[in-house]
Amino acid sequence: MERHFKCTACGKCCQGWLPLSIEDALTHADRFPLFMMWSPVRPGGKSYDLTAELGLTFEPKKRKRAALRITPFSYIPSSIPCPALLPDGKCGVHETKPQRCKTMPLSGARAEDDQTDLMIPKPGWECDISTDAPLVYRDKTVIERSEFTAERSALKADSPVLKAYGDFMLAGNPKLRQEVTKMALNPRGGHVIVNFSTLTPRLPQVDMFSFAAQQFPVMRAFAELTAGEGSMTKEHKRYRACADEYQRMLDSQS
Ligand code: SF4
Ligand code: SF4
Repeated sequence: MERHFKCTACGKCCQGWLPLSIEDALTHADRFPLFMMWSPVRPGGKSYDLTAELGLTFEPKKRKRAALRITPFSYIPSSIPCPALLPDGKCGVHETKPQRCKTMPLSGARAEDDQTDLMIPKPGWECDISTDAPLVYRDKTVIERSEFTAERSALKADSPVLKAYGDFMLAGNPKLRQEVTKMALNPRGGHVIVNFSTLTPRLPQVDMFSFAAQQFPVMRAFAELTAGEGSMTKEHKRYRACADEYQRMLDSQS
């Protein structure tokens, strides 16, 4: 089976959650509201082996194992466009856009032989999937590999830090462990979202005060954007809590 794909830069997929490498998250800390996403995958689930290799495995229940993907991400409601999206649908940070965006529609976080569905545009997306568009995937193999390989390499590079962070958090935070366990046992799956500041102590390159100074206005802006929007109450609360946390940190410095 062959899949052709060309991005026409319509900007329609530039909305909602955007998984990021640690480096991309830090590069865009003045733009994206950063959080950590914890996503359990049950044995037999999509890309279980790869998730276990890049992330970690744990025992949600005696004699049951689950893999856990842990990733930084830009936490934006699905109806809100990326802050880097320009009015003409183009990316405003094209030169430095996250690797996740460069690899679209393929995903380095999914097994190579499990990419077929990613090349089917969602309703409203204007991707060119005609045979005039470049051939990108054939017989479960990625043809144009550079961005796919770059994303997989970034995930591998982040893996030791995220594994150590995940083990530490699961061992020391019973409430988090309980929530992740609940998701892992839920046949419909799900995600647990945690503040990005839980990761920063493990990133020696991060000056926490500079990071807070970048994230505070972002969290405040997203809290304002989502205020009074019933469907975004959950997101609004998280932005506000993070804005308060970063504000306290900045206040403690002065
Ligand atoms: S960074 Fe650019 S390409 Fe990526 S989601 Fe935002 S606007 Fe789209
Ligand atoms: S929806 Fe398709 S065509 Fe539009 S920006 Fe995203 S990948 Fe490109």
